[in-house]
Amino acid sequence: MAKKQFKAESKRLLDLMINSIYTNKEIFLREILSNASDAIDKLCYLSLTDDGVGLNREDFRIDIFVDKAARTITVRDNGIGMSISEAEANLGVIAKSGSYQFKGELEKAQGGEDVSIIGQFGVGFYSAFMVSDRVTVISRKYGEAQGVCWESRGADGYTVTPVEREGVGTDVIMHIKADTEEEIYGSYLEKWKIKAMVKKYSDYVRWPICMDMERQERVETGETDDEGKPKYEYRTIIENEIINSRVPIWQRPKDEVSDEDCIQWYKEKQHEEKEPCALLRVSAEGNVSYKALLFVPGEARELAYTGEHKSGITLYANGVMIMEHCDKLVNEYFEFVKGVVDSPDLSLNISREMLQHDRQLKLIGRSLEKKIKGELEKLLREDRPKYESFWRSFGTHIKAGVCDEYGRYKDFLRDLLLFYTSEDKQLTLKEYVEAMPDSQQVIYYASSDTLKHAMSLPQCEQVRSRGYELLYLTGPLDEVVLENLQEQDGKRFCNVVTDDLGFDTEEEKKAAEERDLENRELLDFVKESLGGTVSAVRLSRKLAALPCCLTTEGGITLEMEKYFRHGPNEQMRKLRATRVLELNAEHIAVEALKKAYDAGERDRAAELAKILEALAEMMAGCEIEDPAAFVSLVSKLF
Ligand code: ADP
Repeated sequence: MAKKQFKAESKRLLDLMINSIYTNKEIFLREILSNASDAIDKLCYLSLTDDGVGLNREDFRIDIFVDKAARTITVRDNGIGMSISEAEANLGVIAKSGSYQFKGELEKAQGGEDVSIIGQFGVGFYSAFMVSDRVTVISRKYGEAQGVCWESRGADGYTVTPVEREGVGTDVIMHIKADTEEEIYGSYLEKWKIKAMVKKYSDYVRWPICMDMERQERVETGETDDEGKPKYEYRTIIENEIINSRVPIWQRPKDEVSDEDCIQWYKEKQHEEKEPCALLRVSAEGNVSYKALLFVPGEARELAYTGEHKSGITLYANGVMIMEHCDKLVNEYFEFVKGVVDSPDLSLNISREMLQHDRQLKLIGRSLEKKIKGELEKLLREDRPKYESFWRSFGTHIKAGVCDEYGRYKDFLRDLLLFYTSEDKQLTLKEYVEAMPDSQQVIYYASSDTLKHAMSLPQCEQVRSRGYELLYLTGPLDEVVLENLQEQDGKRFCNVVTDDLGFDTEEEKKAAEERDLENRELLDFVKESLGGTVSAVRLSRKLAALPCCLTTEGGITLEMEKYFRHGPNEQMRKLRATRVLELNAEHIAVEALKKAYDAGERDRAAELAKILEALAEMMAGCEIEDPAAFVSLVSKLF
């Protein structure tokens, strides 16, 4: 029979696939097995209404035969089969499902940049050509007497001939390529390798995938040795095995599989030793249907040690694995979640690029996020120590999520946030607000690089002395989180370092202004002697026992400055907060400064001013620019 040509687009695809350096050749088996499974689905469905099929559910199967000598792998199914015209129509053109997008991606790939893009598709039947130099399909369609033999050596075209075939179904015979220097194609003929590929990609295909497996068994020979003991020998036993587990754990009903079973599965599959913090078993129907088995890990192992993140969600379409590390399913703030999501609504032909635009996936992702959040809130309510341990591992993700995309997710995430209110107590913002006394109007917070340091900031004194609690922030990200949130239950946030604490009455404010005015000359002198390092010097109303403190004006806080100081960007490293030095007029150190100034001892007064400034810097957790100069100034006091 004359050789027919593939349709143009198929030819281009084939060329590309065969000639490109394809990184993930092993998925060919997954594709062929999925087709076999689909074909059985179709016949099984037909058998519900058509007695003529003559097969029961348990009769359907897929067989894999390997012939090492002939270098062939045959995948046989007893599914619906193909007629001559179907073989031609289905195997002669590019996979019709998703072919439009596929073509687009293909053209992009041919544009030269990333040929390996092809490795990210479910490429269907054609993928057999990645490992085969010839593929023969022998099929007989249900209801037809005649079979068809379709054969192709790849890009040069294909032939179709009528053949006899006993029974309905399809054989796909892949003639495995000869080994080359780059690729040992022969390895695909190893049964252990085939079994591993089935386990990895097609473990949950619902029909049994059977293969003859060999094993060695010690058996008695029937003879005895000199001492009269029975002699043994090893014999090769061949047994037809079902190599896939068929029903995945997440597809089984909840009353059949305990939470402990799921956790055991998680530990094995994800190589985790630690118990997960939370387990989610979802079976969603309706708008989107999917099943999910997800885990919040007990610790941030992978992320912590490798520095790179790999989302732990594996995507399945009807039991067929289509993508590992599917990082577009949930937003980054939940990227630590591990497990599987399986939906019959997804197509095999999905690439990472397409994921973002896939409507079904978006719906699934959104629904999952709500469930994950719900589970975390439950943990927060019911098992605080566990939630705190979760927070230690993954709190940064949630905080970063609040700041992401200009605060787009802040309201979704705000109830998950925890902040320290003392060394051993953390509260959610809601809990903090609920515990506020009536007299307290705003949410006070103090920020530094460590909890201890934030607690020891001089500006906290006054707030605490009124019996109010503070949130202690431990880094620049925390500040940005609050900036994004803006308020909680109608209560503003108040940074005790930079903001007005709101404690002063109008009269007190006036009195303070007058006091500033009276001391204007001294305060100006201090500012002058500091040589432009601070934008203003004021008398403080926030201090009780300490002589001075540093506050800032404008958008950059001291915490941000500290953060940027070690950043990779030269310009950012130079960013400085606008500092204001506040002095406690009642403190003996400030009194001494005033005394020196009033007595005309300008040099001494200037030195004392510099010391006070350095002390304020230190208390704010900043590095002082010139420690040696500071030490010599202090030494003069002795
Ligand atoms: P897809 O599976 O995405 O449609 P493929 O290239 O894998 O694309 O297959 C093309 C078509 O060939 C299938 O849709 C199906 O109609 C037919 N086909 C492939 N394998 C088989 C099989 N084992 N039995 C019956 N039909 C098959």
